[in-house]
Amino acid sequence: MNFVLHGHAVSGGITVGYAHLVATARLEVAHYEIAPEAVDAEIARFDGAMQTAQDGLQALKAHIAPDAPKEFEAFLDLHRMILNDSALAVVPREMIRSRRANAEWALVQQMERLVERFDEIDDPYLRERKADVQHAVERVLKALMGGQKIVEPAVSEEQKLIVVAHDLSPADMILFKRHRFGGFVTDVGGVTSHTAIVARSLAIPAIVGLHHAFQTISEGEMLIVDGERGLLVVNPDSLVLAEYRERQAELKAERQRLKRLKKTPATTQDGTPIELFANIELPQDMPEVLEAGADGVGLFRSEFMFLNRKDLPGEEEQLEAYRQVAEAIKGRPVILRTLDIGADKAMNGGDGGNTMPNPAMGLRAIRFCLAEPQMFLTQLRAILRASHYGTVRILLPMLAHAHEIDQTLTLINQAKAQLEERDQPYDRAIQIGGMIEIPAAALALPIFMRRLQFLSIGTNDLIQYTLAIDRTDDAVAHLYDPLHPAVLTLVANTIQTATRGGMPVAVCGEMAGDLQLTRLLLGLGLRNFSMHPSQLLAIKERILSTNLTEVQAAAQRVLRNTDPAKTRDLLARLNS
Ligand code: PEP
Ligand code: MG
Repeated sequence: MNFVLHGHAVSGGITVGYAHLVATARLEVAHYEIAPEAVDAEIARFDGAMQTAQDGLQALKAHIAPDAPKEFEAFLDLHRMILNDSALAVVPREMIRSRRANAEWALVQQMERLVERFDEIDDPYLRERKADVQHAVERVLKALMGGQKIVEPAVSEEQKLIVVAHDLSPADMILFKRHRFGGFVTDVGGVTSHTAIVARSLAIPAIVGLHHAFQTISEGEMLIVDGERGLLVVNPDSLVLAEYRERQAELKAERQRLKRLKKTPATTQDGTPIELFANIELPQDMPEVLEAGADGVGLFRSEFMFLNRKDLPGEEEQLEAYRQVAEAIKGRPVILRTLDIGADKAMNGGDGGNTMPNPAMGLRAIRFCLAEPQMFLTQLRAILRASHYGTVRILLPMLAHAHEIDQTLTLINQAKAQLEERDQPYDRAIQIGGMIEIPAAALALPIFMRRLQFLSIGTNDLIQYTLAIDRTDDAVAHLYDPLHPAVLTLVANTIQTATRGGMPVAVCGEMAGDLQLTRLLLGLGLRNFSMHPSQLLAIKERILSTNLTEVQAAAQRVLRNTDPAKTRDLLARLNS
């Protein structure tokens, strides 16, 4: 049966491929007692589900297309091995008998025990295999809870796997950087959640907020991810498929065409130079940054190094990562944001996770760092040491209070003194800037301008906190509006006040990479944009065709307007 699911487009482009179901969320199953005379039947039900899952994997393996990615077969083999192991094949049977527990519950209990043990493993590769245990168990659960439909993947010239999940955390997402997936689709999630941001940085089509994808799609089903419109087509017919193939070819040609702009300076038609920086999560992202011809790294989200591990990266490990980036960009600036852990980016087993009552408003980012001064000092020393190898700047996230800046500056001085003592070199003129991402900060800019050397507007959080909508919650994703007059006023005032005061100001939130907003931001006076490398050349092309005098007047009209429909109309005219 073919059908279409609607969600929120997160990352553009189109992928045609095959569903690969991934379960990472904690599995919720019912727990009930089995009557003594029904225990044998329950064990038989468990064995039957195990067999169905094994048969399903076997059937999938038998039908892998010759050109399918190698990872596909490896996944299937690994999952078969996991299910064959006595830890899953035998122990839950014993639990059903001894505790008279239902099969689903026994299986999940045992899975959780195994998964806990994985958390204790030092080797990062083996630690990551915990997700495979969860996925393999998910297959058995599916069989227990209603039977599993096996669909044979059809053969196509371009076999790609599309990850289908109920939910993915930013930590899960970062692991996917190592695999070649063709797309991501999830049931929940907001378009500026960090999960979505990482998907965008992978430059592959992604959709969030599909609600029923994980339940309704079976492993191996053919999918089209339309990352432009947020549509997921399941089992497309040949006509639809042909249409999408055509669009795919057009997009590919478009990307090729944009590559020619790599070395062209980003200058408006009236000759104003615009700086285009790139956002990264890990040093491994640097090839794309160089490929896009970015003027520097405008936001290095250093916290991604801290995810998917129980320990903290030490000073030497951090130095190595920061230095790698500073050297790769060859003298151009690297704006290194200090640890923004907390909210949706939780460290394994550490504080700053989702255990707080309201993590987005809790001990996140600078608040967490100031509560853990030794950990913060380690990072500050690593950043300072990396500044010796390039043009490194420090960016402080989630600032709201003067004392947060003052305390941080004291710690930076302390870190500098420690390096002096060790006789280790660093850039003595290192610049320190702050993120404007809490409305209070945007409204009280003098606090920042008196203490810091540059500003960067984090529109993702600025919108979240201004409009009081959780950026990770798809139930309120429709309320996430960069064009809301309150948001535009805060952004415009920050740009204007900083510029008048001679302080460099950039936008590094997702607004900077949104083609629909480029001219508006230029008109509001923005001259420095930082975005995912995949968006950079399209934004540059828009800048090249923009006349500043024209857009300045139009941007003021958008800013003054309070009728949402008219705002969209004015924006459409600005972009025409
Ligand atoms: C932002 O909030 O806009 C930002 C750039 O930081 P992050 O998305 O990592 O919170
Ligand atoms: Mg932020």
